[in-house]
Amino acid sequence: MNITRRSLLATSGAALVSTTLPRRGWTETRLQLAGGVEILTLSDGNLTLPADFIFGPMPKDELATILARFDMDPSAPLTPPCNITLMRHGDTLALFDAGSGTGFQSSVGALPDALAAAGIDPLDITHVIFTHGHPDHLWGALDDFDEALFANATHMMGQTEFDYWMDDATVESIGEERASFAVGAKRRLEVLADDMVLFHDGEMVLPDVRAQLTPGHTPGHMAFVIGQGADAVMVLGDAIGNGHIAFARPEWTSGSDQDPEMAAATRATLFAQITAEDMAVIGFHLPGGGIGRVTQADGGFIFQPAL
Ligand SMILES: [Zn+2]
Repeated sequence: MNITRRSLLATSGAALVSTTLPRRGWTETRLQLAGGVEILTLSDGNLTLPADFIFGPMPKDELATILARFDMDPSAPLTPPCNITLMRHGDTLALFDAGSGTGFQSSVGALPDALAAAGIDPLDITHVIFTHGHPDHLWGALDDFDEALFANATHMMGQTEFDYWMDDATVESIGEERASFAVGAKRRLEVLADDMVLFHDGEMVLPDVRAQLTPGHTPGHMAFVIGQGADAVMVLGDAIGNGHIAFARPEWTSGSDQDPEMAAATRATLFAQITAEDMAVIGFHLPGGGIGRVTQADGGFIFQPAL
């Protein structure tokens, strides 16, 4: 497994003629697996969330002690990065999640620019494989005209997750805080539904990619294992949703998970699997481009970004 990281700069006319304007940059992290599978992550930007969205249910004193190790203030807004995974293998160019698009928060929705900077045309994407239906993962699948941005791609989602967001009852049961998530997901999935390929736990969604049900963050959340054995890497989505508390205290319930108890049980299962198999991981909201390794420490775990 060979990991490299480089920064990309958009080449716009303005950037070429002016050195006074700030230039927008994207960081791209690459991972080379056996068998010609190449993985890179692209930044969609970062979310801005109130601290309690994650930390609300957690014991405040111990939380502050752990966050101090990360130079984080427990009451300051959170600004998690959003890493989109792109897998290239032969003629396959598969995206894992589609980012936020322009309809969610102003600090996200950069994926089209990041793809352009990497020299990739959205029309060349062959598959868009969703971990779950939250706005920062799904809403970027449509363009500003409510049509599929990745117009030539096969869109794929776990059956349980798809059924949950398509259910008219979800907007009533999900709670006021996330009601807009339900409305937004259903509207977008209805556009994509006719051609959506639905899959189940344990199925191979592509020849090198196995789906793994990882519920709790959402009811049908899926992670994906790419490759085999010591060379495998797991696309975590939001099943391990941050690089600090979710690693240090995976057993603590998080306000960001729709079923917090189930999500904590899923994290326990995943950490056992990842450390037993010594897998690399890619996290949607993990730092440093999201690709890295997991080590055990202090009764919990540490995320070590690849570079
Ligand atoms: Zn997310």
